[in-house]
Amino acid sequence: MSELLTRRQVLAGIAAGGSLPLLSACMGSEAAQTAAGLSGKATTEVAVIGAGYAGLACARALVQAGRDVMVLEARDRVGGRCFNQTLPAPYDQYVVEGGAEFIGPTQDRMYALAQELGIATFGAYNTGKTVNYANGRRTTYSGRIPPGDPLAAAEGALAILRLDSMAQQIPLDAPWNAPKAAEWDAQTFQTWMDDNLVGAGAKNLLRLAIIALFSAEPRELSLLYVLFYIRSAGNLNLLLDTQGGAQQDRIVGGSQAIALGLAQALGERIRCNAPVSSIVQDAGGVTLDGAGFSVRAQRVVVAMSPWMAGRLHYAPFDGPTQARLQLMQRMPMGSIWKVHCVYPTPFWREAGLNGQATSDRFLTKVTFDNTPPEPGAPGVMMGFIDGQDARDALAMTPEARKQAVIEAFVTYFGDQAANPVGYLEMNWQAEDYSGGGPTGTLPPGALTAYTTALRAPIGRLHWAGTETAEIWTGYMDGAVRSGERAAQEVLAAL
Ligand SMILES: Cc1cc2nc3c(=O)[nH]c(=O)nc-3n(C[C@H](O)[C@H](O)[C@H](O)COP(=O)(O)OP(=O)(O)OC[C@H]3O[C@@H](n4cnc5c(N)ncnc54)[C@H](O)[C@@H]3O)c2cc1C
Repeated sequence: MSELLTRRQVLAGIAAGGSLPLLSACMGSEAAQTAAGLSGKATTEVAVIGAGYAGLACARALVQAGRDVMVLEARDRVGGRCFNQTLPAPYDQYVVEGGAEFIGPTQDRMYALAQELGIATFGAYNTGKTVNYANGRRTTYSGRIPPGDPLAAAEGALAILRLDSMAQQIPLDAPWNAPKAAEWDAQTFQTWMDDNLVGAGAKNLLRLAIIALFSAEPRELSLLYVLFYIRSAGNLNLLLDTQGGAQQDRIVGGSQAIALGLAQALGERIRCNAPVSSIVQDAGGVTLDGAGFSVRAQRVVVAMSPWMAGRLHYAPFDGPTQARLQLMQRMPMGSIWKVHCVYPTPFWREAGLNGQATSDRFLTKVTFDNTPPEPGAPGVMMGFIDGQDARDALAMTPEARKQAVIEAFVTYFGDQAANPVGYLEMNWQAEDYSGGGPTGTLPPGALTAYTTALRAPIGRLHWAGTETAEIWTGYMDGAVRSGERAAQEVLAAL
């Protein structure tokens, strides 16, 4: 770890929407940085593993209830799947979101936290038309579905209504109890599309929606799981929309700003650079071990994706633990990159475009205007590389990948996109303590096989992480809710 920021500097940075040096992000106090408490044995009442939104929200709730808490974070920063990237010089006073970014209506916990911390939100740029590239043709359109192919548009709209209506039959606390759970969990979303959609156009639209939501292919996802995800958000349009949907707003200072604010308040309770490798329960408590440290706690909250949690060792290795481990083996992370091109100005706005594109070709098929909100900021175009494209991109050289991204942006937004003055990419598959993103997904058969194993506490062990949320699972809001739910479980048990 290098230099530390003072609390005043951190808060000033957040308020200004400025960039916070990565290594100071864990911050809180010098004690948190020295690892002094981690080089030997430590005790705490509740240990929370992971300082993403789930772990931070959990720790905050426990501290508010007067409990003694220690948060053990593997990385040298807080925020987990939320990470601010600093733009290249001369724009290095601005940040963009390398991971999670948007919040939207009904994500009440995130808005409430932003308000409590004095962090503003602002509308994602959404003025003008969206670009659609399909079957070799570029068009622009307003509204939700590209109208170019009327049959595809009509069939796509009908499919959304059908999926919403099926999703309404899913009990959020027990999706495996849905009347058609067995039938829906026995098929992939691809199978459902093949059986229920006639035109290739509608299938392409829905495939794009699925890969944009999960960064996984429709052939990889259980239909029951997709329906649960839709129900967890409310409906499919809420998931897909910018205005009025999950992409409506951004957070001043980037999505990591709220994590930094939560970490600030937790102070030295957070220990960074502290990857936990094993969790051993006995009659009197729980022992967490990592390289060079051992922490003894009364209760433990594992606040991370099931796939990440599956890399830890557990004892005793009893039936419930085996079931959770089996489930964790079946929840792979999506495959995702986020890329940003920086331009002197957001030139697409002058052309009447909102910076959003949907496409059936090119490496990046979904884009957003990611220009920072501060005056003087350059134009920033963001692209997602999702699902199979994200895997294909692993085999490309950095230069070939950049050129493929630029080719897409030029096709969508014109020749001015050809020469970005800066380029950033963030490959979540390369993140050892995330393993991908945006969320852990479920193939057919897992939800109905392992049912309560996702959330049910095992002895003194509790599970948080957005994947365990009933509301807004997969999102920052779901992560916060999951952490707060786990805190309530712990408080009831202590
Ligand atoms: C590219 C991308 C785009 C996204 N876009 C959005 C969006 O626009 N809006 C939205 O709401 N959500 C979005 N998400 C999803 C969102 O980021 C997650 O839902 C949320 O951040 C999950 O929080 P979490 O606390 O559950 O898990 P995480 O953020 O993954 O936190 C888990 C923490 O545990 C730590 N950890 C892992 N292993 C160990 C260990 N052994 N010991 C100690 N610590 C460990 C990790 O380092 C991490 O800090 C996106 C995600 C990605 C990757």
